[in-house]
Formats: sequence, C-alpha cells, structure tokens
Amino acid sequence: MKRILVTGGAGFIGCNFVRMLLDRHPDYCVIVYDKLTYAGRLENLQDVAERHPDRYTFVRGDICDAELVESVVREHDVDTIVNFAAETHVDRSILNPDAFIQTDVYGTFVLLEVARRCGNLRYHQISTDEVYGHIEGEHRSRETDCMAPRSPYAASKAGADHLVQAYHITYGLPTTISRGANNIGPYQYPEKVVPLFITNALNDMPLPVYGDGQQRRDYQYVLDHCTAIDLILEKGVPGETYNVGTGQEMTNLEMVEILLDELGKPRSLIQHVEDRLGHDRRYCLDVSKIISLGWQPTYSHEEAIRTTVRWYVDNRWWWEPIRSGEFREYYQRVYGNR
Ligand code: NAD
Repeated sequence: MKRILVTGGAGFIGCNFVRMLLDRHPDYCVIVYDKLTYAGRLENLQDVAERHPDRYTFVRGDICDAELVESVVREHDVDTIVNFAAETHVDRSILNPDAFIQTDVYGTFVLLEVARRCGNLRYHQISTDEVYGHIEGEHRSRETDCMAPRSPYAASKAGADHLVQAYHITYGLPTTISRGANNIGPYQYPEKVVPLFITNALNDMPLPVYGDGQQRRDYQYVLDHCTAIDLILEKGVPGETYNVGTGQEMTNLEMVEILLDELGKPRSLIQHVEDRLGHDRRYCLDVSKIISLGWQPTYSHEEAIRTTVRWYVDNRWWWEPIRSGEFREYYQRVYGNR
C-alpha cells in the first residue's frame, strides 16, 4: 500500500487528483489534509468518501501547524506528500498578500521539514507557470529558465519552489516540482476567470474581461494535469521540475467566445474593465520534458472549455450556494456592482 498525504486536497485540483488517484490505483491510501479555507470544500470529496471509505481519510488542519502535520504523517505512516495547499487567487494576493506568504512559503517549509524529519519522504510540490512571469515574443518557458514572478501570488509560489529545490540539494530530500498552466474543470471556485464567466453568463450577468482581453494563456483540462502529476510520482526524477500544459495558447477573448457559444449566450455580455495591476500578458510553457516522460494532454483548449461549461450547467447545486455566500462580498470589492 502506498500512503499519500495530499495537502490542499479539498480544493479544485486537489479533489480531482484524489478522485483520479483512488480510482486508478487500488493499492493507494490517501489522507487529505486541508484547512478548509473559503476555497476548500468537503462536498468536493463527498463522492470519494462514499466510494472509498477504507482508503480515504480527511483531516482538517493548517499546513503551517508543524506539530499536527507531523503527527498525521506518523499516525498514518505516510510515505509521500503531494502539496496542493496554497492561497491561489492572484486578485486576492493583490488585495491582501499576507496569507499567501504564510501558507505558500512558510507552509511549504513546514511540509519539507516534516518530510525530512520523518525519514526523507518523497515530496511533490504543485507549482505554477506564473513563476516564470510575463513571457516575451515566441519564447516558451523551460524548466531551467529563471523565475521572474510579478504578483504576490507568483512570488510566494516561486519562494516555495526555491525551498523545495534547496531541500533536495541540501538534505537529499527526494523532491519533484510540477509547474502547471491554467487549469479548468469541475469544482473550480467561481472567483477564477472561467467558472466566473460561466456562472455570470448563466445568470445573464456581464463578463468582466480585464483590459483588451488579449492576454495569452494555456487552458488545460484539470484531469490532464492530474495524470501528469501521477506520472511524475511514478517516474519523475528526484530534484527535477516538470512543466505541465498543452503547450498551446489562446487569448482570453477567444476563451470567452467559446464559452458563450457553448452556453448559447450573446457576445454582448462581454464587458471590458480596467486591467489587473501588473497583469502578465503571456504565459507559455515548453512541455517537451513531461512529454518525454510518457505523458500527453488529451483535451484541446476548446474541448476543455466546452467540457467545463457543461459541468457547471449540470452542477448548479455546487456553485449556487458559493455565489450567494462570502463570494458576493469579494466580487463587489473587485468588480463593484456590475
Ligand atoms: P484552490 O484555491 O482551489 O485550493 C487550495 C486548497 O488549499 C483549498 O482546499 C484550501 O482549503 C487549501 N488550503 C489553503 N491554505 C491552506 C493551509 N494553510 N493549510 C491547509 N490547506 C490549505 O487551488 P487550486 O486551483 O486547486 O490550486 C492547487 C495548487 O495548484 C496550488 O498550489 C496552486 O498554486 C497550483 N496551481 C493552480 C493552477 C490553477 O489554474 N488553478 C495552475 C497551476 C498551479
């Protein structure tokens, strides 16, 4: 039995990863450790708890709480830590960076220390393409490129990546890092651009597009990202970093148009608003390293967007209560009364 601690497993990517892992590997046990911030939700894992009661455990806790993390690791005889836990929304990091530094940097340090103290456990860090910053011209970021983060969120993720690498070099901890492009799919909190626009459009509300909407992004389907992480756990080389994405790019406006077409909603819902501070114009990853490890994305951008739209159409039970809670106050702070 492999025994994996998945921190941040009640969030968007984490819950998709846990579901996939338990379905794919009958010999894996998963312990989800999550603080349940506004972005972490137990209902994201309800079906998992029902289907795998003997191989799935949930523990509520903060990754900054070293004592609790260590006791959970020892009690469950964990051999691998996969860290998804983070504050993740760039707009919130601009409004209030403190929690980002605390969780994303200090929390990662705590997990690395516990991994080291408990016998050099296998450690995988979920990072982001945003650590590379804005990418000029036709260049694609390679894993060996310097990090040049430009938002408090990206800077905190870059800090964590440096720590992970330092623990590998200094202490020989068997670490890997994956840097994922933008993920979309089921259970993504509706503050993020794609579910925000889908749920606004379903409510016939305007879609607030930052600036000219020409920012270029790689929208990968979350399950593709999850299969890449699974592969890295099996075949990744300790000390290495792997970019994960489709390697393709599209503008935010193109994404919005596909989304509106799938919903049968008019383009007149598009409303350009003042651009985000320090908004990166382009991210683009060179994904040849993960492909040579034996991985391939299975969803194009368009398929990923259309599949995501259909999930939100079919799962109002999940997002309607969120949109009427804390989210409403946050939305007004960022977008006013639109
Ligand atoms: P999310 O915001 O949906 O989920 C984050 C989870 O972490 C939540 O369940 C939350 O409760 C938990 N958490 C936050 N602070 C915690 C703490 N101190 N202790 C324990 N748990 C805590 O995020 P996501 O989109 O699923 O992202 C997961 C990871 O993937 C993050 O590390 C993020 O940086 C990275 N990533 C995300 C994307 C994307 O497009 N969403 C792309 C690349 C990388």
